[in-house]
Amino acid sequence: MRTAGMLAAVVARHTAARPCRVQGLSSRADTQLKVCVVGSGPAGFYTAQHLLKYYESSVVDIYEKLPVPFGLVRFGVAPDHPEVKNVINAFTQTAHHDRCSFYGNVTVGKDVSIEELKQAYHALVLTYGAEANRTLDIPGKNLLGVYSARTFVGWYNGLPENKDLNPELSSETAVILGHGNVALDVARILLSPIDVLKKTDIAGHALEAIATSKVKRVLLVGRRGPLQVAFTIKELREMINLPDTRPLLNPSDFMGLKQAVKDLPRPRKRLTELMIKTALEKPSGKEVERQAAATKEWGLRFLRSPLEIIPSNDGKRVAGIRLSVNKVEGLGESAKFVQTEDVEDLECGLVLSSIGYKSYPIDPSVPFDHRLGIIPNNLGRVLHASGLYCSGWVKRGPTGVIVTTMHDGFETAETVLGDVRSGLLDVSASKGGSKVIEALLKQRGIRPVTFSEWEKIDNVEVARGEQAGKPREKLLDVQQMIEVASQ
Ligand code: FAD
Repeated sequence: MRTAGMLAAVVARHTAARPCRVQGLSSRADTQLKVCVVGSGPAGFYTAQHLLKYYESSVVDIYEKLPVPFGLVRFGVAPDHPEVKNVINAFTQTAHHDRCSFYGNVTVGKDVSIEELKQAYHALVLTYGAEANRTLDIPGKNLLGVYSARTFVGWYNGLPENKDLNPELSSETAVILGHGNVALDVARILLSPIDVLKKTDIAGHALEAIATSKVKRVLLVGRRGPLQVAFTIKELREMINLPDTRPLLNPSDFMGLKQAVKDLPRPRKRLTELMIKTALEKPSGKEVERQAAATKEWGLRFLRSPLEIIPSNDGKRVAGIRLSVNKVEGLGESAKFVQTEDVEDLECGLVLSSIGYKSYPIDPSVPFDHRLGIIPNNLGRVLHASGLYCSGWVKRGPTGVIVTTMHDGFETAETVLGDVRSGLLDVSASKGGSKVIEALLKQRGIRPVTFSEWEKIDNVEVARGEQAGKPREKLLDVQQMIEVASQ
């Protein structure tokens, strides 16, 4: 599901199925539609791509907080998954379109308001993602050695705001709270052989720190059971085959599951079968030697919820984590996971909470559903806010891979085009677009970074990488990025 080849095939299938939309709009081809997209992750680029392709007189300007584009494709996707980042080629093509412009280093809601953008454009599409995380609200959460997985991912991927994290990697055991793909990404990066990591675009500081890391055991703890894990089979298989590591799965967690597996939908069935096989079947052939020789290990702990972080004797750092043992009440989809009075303590020096990303409002004028953490919308049309649309993680919540986000971007673009067609979105008045916004930004001393300036940054990063034998060495500092852009 995450491969670039499949993604290209899905894009091709999707785009081939839409000729009537083009015809429907061609009669209005003379009416210019100026759209502002906020955020340059997959949602922003796929929405822009669709609008440019299916509305000949559209102009799409993408505003991005950072001087560099691509959102979580650059700062989230794991460095050892370069094939996933191939989508950047398609995004670059979109950015080169003569009706598309990129304005990096512009934070919407701070440097320019939504109201100002509404005055300058016919439509605004908010695709600013989910930049916060659900917080771990237990005693000890502020001790040295406790981090959110989001911050840790930002650190190893060179996100400027996380570059100084300097995580505590001096103990043997790390606990990751969460059973999703991000949790597995983080576990894999912590345990991967350094020779593998040094050929990736992982940030230089992270490579150095991981090279001297003492972590050799990673336990992934989940509130629910093996049938509810949120990671996918590809990521689990990568973990199972990770060089120099052995899996530590408790056979008793998987006893009796063989029967339940039969009725599961196919992806979950295959995933569960792989866990059962790994936990219950004795390794054979070369695998016996490989596992015996491994110096590192990882495991899955089920039916455990974090209660508190146990401090070290000096009260400053993590010494362990106390977990409640949960029990299952009910069956199937309606099963509930309830804490019992039993607890379990795990000794560890690093705790990473991977319990979900979260969106937040960027401007008081935009409706926001704080409970769901999304902008309330109907097929991407923001409720009770004409001219406003949204797409990606801020539209549907922080779940789903790039392909899911692509479909979501296309859906929102279709909604915009449908509204132009039906007259719901008024495009009769001409709008000032980027000219107006550029003047405002200039007055405010904000220096936008264009796409060709990003390409200068890109060239510098690739050249720095070549010297280190890596695909790229990212610049970590916003000021430094702007200096390179200005050369
Ligand atoms: P984002 O990618 O987050 O983009 C949002 C953009 O908006 C960012 O560039 C941000 O800087 C910008 N922004 C934020 N606030 C403002 C503002 N105020 N003004 C202007 N701009 C702003 N999917 C896969 O298919 N394969 C993977 O291997 C994979 N790995 C992942 C690993 C991690 C750690 C995570 C978190 C996700 C991963 N995903 C993966 C999922 C994928 O990254 C998401 O589906 C996708 O990035 C969501 O796109 P988006 O555009 O909604 O958000």
